[in-house]
Amino acid sequence: METNPLPLDELYEKARQVQANAYAPYSQDKVGAAVMTKDGSIFTGATVETANWVFLCAEHVAIANAVSAGKPDILALARYPSAFPCGVCRQAMVEFNHNLIFIFERDGKLQTTTMDALLPSSFGPWSIPCAT
Ligand SMILES: [Zn+2]
Repeated sequence: METNPLPLDELYEKARQVQANAYAPYSQDKVGAAVMTKDGSIFTGATVETANWVFLCAEHVAIANAVSAGKPDILALARYPSAFPCGVCRQAMVEFNHNLIFIFERDGKLQTTTMDALLPSSFGPWSIPCAT
């Protein structure tokens, strides 16, 4: 039986903490996210909105922060408050790991799900011959 080495509590707590930095004056939907990369690094992101109604989701910002740091090998992502990510974020998640683990809270307990569950039959780098 394989054990789960992911620090679910730590990632979810990082997502909760960074929610305070969310800039969401238009939707008021303040979200925080945290990703863990293959080497154990953690990157966070918060909602960023602008007056022209361009919204950057916290999940996408966290992924962008990891990639910008040269660490695109993302293993897991936690979102706070718990809700499943939007379609754009699901596409960003599958781009960097089609086996990415999504961490969420339900009934007071942290749980995980897979990209196969979140974005079945997904389109990704493997779908474009010149990208692989
Ligand atoms: Zn999103």
